[in-house]
Amino acid sequence: MKVHEYQAKDIFAAHGIPVPEGVMVETVEEAVAVAKRIGVPVVLKSQVHVGGRGKAGGIKLVSKLEDVPKVAGDILGMEIKGLTVKKLLVAKGVEIETECYVGLLLDRAKKRITWIVSAAGGVDIEEVAANEPEKIVKLTVDPTIGFRNYQARWLATKLYSDPAQVKAAASIILKLYQAFLDSDSSLAEINPLITTPEGEVLAIDAKLNIDDSALYRRQAIAEMRDLDAETPAEILAREQSLSYVPLDGEIGCVVNGAGLAMATMDVIQHYGGSPANFLDIGGSSNPEKVIAALDIITSDPKVKAILFNIFGGITRCDDVAMGIKTAFERKPPTIPIVIRLTGTNEEKASEILEEAGYTALTVMDEAVIAAVEAARGGK
Ligand code: GDP
Ligand code: MN
Repeated sequence: MKVHEYQAKDIFAAHGIPVPEGVMVETVEEAVAVAKRIGVPVVLKSQVHVGGRGKAGGIKLVSKLEDVPKVAGDILGMEIKGLTVKKLLVAKGVEIETECYVGLLLDRAKKRITWIVSAAGGVDIEEVAANEPEKIVKLTVDPTIGFRNYQARWLATKLYSDPAQVKAAASIILKLYQAFLDSDSSLAEINPLITTPEGEVLAIDAKLNIDDSALYRRQAIAEMRDLDAETPAEILAREQSLSYVPLDGEIGCVVNGAGLAMATMDVIQHYGGSPANFLDIGGSSNPEKVIAALDIITSDPKVKAILFNIFGGITRCDDVAMGIKTAFERKPPTIPIVIRLTGTNEEKASEILEEAGYTALTVMDEAVIAAVEAARGGK
């Protein structure tokens, strides 16, 4: 789960990381009131779950109070990468001397927490990594030893030469590590960590991605979820407990089991197609789930065909077939459907689907080839 910058800053501040004073607002009037209270210059920042808001015009420094209504009005309601801005952070504007990048993430390949810092901050860190990799410093945390003070100081020396700033940055880095652990994040980022002309070190942007599987034990963070910031498909998937990850391809997949879903995606690629999503409907044959899965998949205009790939183990194929049949009766499909069912009660399942006018395949390769052809408009 992503949280907004203002929420991440609250978490950072609670851990003692210095951030400029700010308040989240939803109207122009509130923005003006907050700007009056904290005093200009203020920075007006769109709160949407995308990076590069600055470049997109969603972040504006305002030095005159009378300009706040116009600028706040312009940003509220603006579209940034497909998301409408409904929330605005009004924060104290600061003068910037230098901008650094400080981040840590769970490196799944290494199975360890890895720090990434760079004195070339403020910009897209992926760009720095691609064009000037020598400007990126990494440090992997050994879980048996933990992250130590001397390592935080070492990272800080890669950002600053002034001893007071090294000390301040090392303290921020240690606190960021604690904030990362305490929020069960998979990514924490300060971009940029800035210095002011007076030499102060401050976090003026904040990003946290929280591990969804840990939300059950992070109630306060779970309550930060902003439904306005999610697509309808994501909301529906969560309501129906479906694991759903949208992708770029054209074949929508409805599969039971995460392993089979991964394998299905691989086989689609193997036969020259590309999956539009990862979607695991789990062990259920509940028609509501099947309908939700179809709603989610067909809300993506790129989807040209849908492939069901069901393995009946404990889940019985005839139950799933009934679910599919009921779902299609309530909401007839508008694009080609390929169904493959195998395992427990597969014969019964085929009968149910054939009576309803659908063909049920049992071999995965055949089904995938049919889906790839259907997506190309072959059938
Ligand atoms: P992002 O574009 O979504 O990463 O949003 P940021 O919060 O990182 O802001 C983008 C850029 O706007 C920063 O790198 C700064 O250069 C600039 N910016 C943000 N806040 C301030 C501020 O208070 N004062 C000044 N002068 N610039 C700011
Ligand atoms: Mn940023």
